[in-house]
Amino acid sequence: MNELQKKIYDRFARYVAVETTSDSNSQTVPTTKTQLSFGKMLAEEMKELGLSDVHIDKNGFVFGQIPSNLDKKAPAVGFLAHMDTVQDYCGKNIHPVVHTGYDGGKLVINEEKKMYLTPENAPRLLKCVGHDIVTSDGNTLLGGDDKIGIALIMTLAEHLLAHPEIKHGPVKISFTIDEETGTGIGYFDIAHFGADFAYTVDGSELGNIDCGNFNADKFVISIIGKNCHPGAAKNFMANPVRIAADIVSSWPEDKLPETTEGEEGFILFNEVEGHLDGATLQGIIRHHELEQFEQFKKDLAQIVEEKRAKYPNAKISLEIKKQYRNMREVLKEKPLAMDVLEQSLKDEKIDYQLTQARGGTDGAQLSLRGLPTPNIFASYENPHGPYEWLSLQWSEKIFNLLVRIVENTAQK
Ligand SMILES: [Zn+2]
Repeated sequence: MNELQKKIYDRFARYVAVETTSDSNSQTVPTTKTQLSFGKMLAEEMKELGLSDVHIDKNGFVFGQIPSNLDKKAPAVGFLAHMDTVQDYCGKNIHPVVHTGYDGGKLVINEEKKMYLTPENAPRLLKCVGHDIVTSDGNTLLGGDDKIGIALIMTLAEHLLAHPEIKHGPVKISFTIDEETGTGIGYFDIAHFGADFAYTVDGSELGNIDCGNFNADKFVISIIGKNCHPGAAKNFMANPVRIAADIVSSWPEDKLPETTEGEEGFILFNEVEGHLDGATLQGIIRHHELEQFEQFKKDLAQIVEEKRAKYPNAKISLEIKKQYRNMREVLKEKPLAMDVLEQSLKDEKIDYQLTQARGGTDGAQLSLRGLPTPNIFASYENPHGPYEWLSLQWSEKIFNLLVRIVENTAQK
């Protein structure tokens, strides 16, 4: 571990020692108080480092900034990472373990529980031979998602403040709440943050950039049936239970979550409830391509239309509700975030892939609300469980990339 890696690691170890599990059943903002105490700790550290305007807003978001040291105007770049860890697995009493110089073989997480990382169950480990790998002790998740992101951004701030010879425009930093529950970012005050574009540092493998996501809508199909004694039902009964099943099985099998991957879209029927008087069938529609997304909705409407003709004694209605759209269009319209990022990746000689997330990201929501925010890899793998790991050599590369982003933004 070199000096910079040690600095990043020490910070990371300090952060994961604080429990910040979020709770999707909670009605409060943030969903858990632990995020507030962690936010206070981060704000104290930001003040000590010399960041300006450090404060926590009423929802628990931590803000700080480093003013421009240029004598011209430059865009303001923002960096975001989330404070919470997922509730799927224990995030308390995390004890990170550093495995120095990974040899390409079996890496023991917990001998007693027979928990190992191997190139078979974690193929990307083979990209990290010789690296210092961090895991938990097998009793908890690691919390790399996303405390390594926080450690990297904090170390970036420290570095910029210690090196005034690095010329930069305004740098805005925020540590955010409740990413894992999906409920936090809606409370984020974009105008107050004041960035022209931003990056979440919350992705996985080195080189992976999320610059797109699904277009998403949900739907409800209501079926009102016609009920009577089953003994006298011929040419009269309309059975909503069977009609719901008929609709579900009419959707093509190769357009379902369990049969698709990459940039293939799907419809997921996720709830059905009913009896002989009526039934409701609910689901979600997902596709990266807007045109095919619209086609999915037409296809679903077409199926409903066919069932109306097939079951004239029933009343069937379809209602589609808008959810969110792919941020890709926003990033095209406001290209600065991707321009600076791709230039910086090239300058740092990092091979990269632009990927379309199969889900939403905090950055996608921010982009759609006007702040272009692609997601940068953060060096962690296998998040949300005890097999999570990260490479400190990857972390160092990401740190250098963040510095480069700041420098390149100053040229714009
Ligand atoms: Zn995350």
